[in-house]
Amino acid sequence: MKHIKKFETFDFTQTLPVTTKNFLTNFYSCDDCDEVWKEFNKVSNKCKFCQSEQIEDLSEDEFYEIQKTKIEDNQTSNIGSGRMEDSEELVDLVNMRSLSESNSYDYTILPQEALVELSDYVDYRNPENRIEVYPDPKVDGTFALRVFRKKDGVTFDLLWNRGAYDGVEFDSWPPVSGDLKFFF
Ligand SMILES: [Zn+2]
Repeated sequence: MKHIKKFETFDFTQTLPVTTKNFLTNFYSCDDCDEVWKEFNKVSNKCKFCQSEQIEDLSEDEFYEIQKTKIEDNQTSNIGSGRMEDSEELVDLVNMRSLSESNSYDYTILPQEALVELSDYVDYRNPENRIEVYPDPKVDGTFALRVFRKKDGVTFDLLWNRGAYDGVEFDSWPPVSGDLKFFF
């Protein structure tokens, strides 16, 4: 499988469209109570759980790594203040995975303007080209696309969001997170 754009080399500073910036998520951890949390489009000055100001910014990778560990730990540890948060997140991920698995769509669910733009990338009406589409369950009107283009044997990912496509490469397919940010 060949990708037109590798995730590793994707230059977000150059290509991140202004329209998606307000969706950016901030990730934090607390030095005092050890909880992690995320804020959409918001900056935290204090711990969401204990109000401590000893908090640190996390990268998205760090956040999900810590969260994964915490969810695993929680199966045996006492109920902590963050457990509810974590289990909600876990349920979310499970829901999304099942959503993704059950809701495999083709290009026909795309809005008209997304179809028009899609024809710049691929002749979607040609059945030799394969287009899988997943709507973002959390962000209305946002769609993840994986396109196989027969004529040059290329597979690539697109993100339709607010009237434009971004060339991206999803870590997993179907995408399992509902956060728009995960697409990057
Ligand atoms: Zn705290």
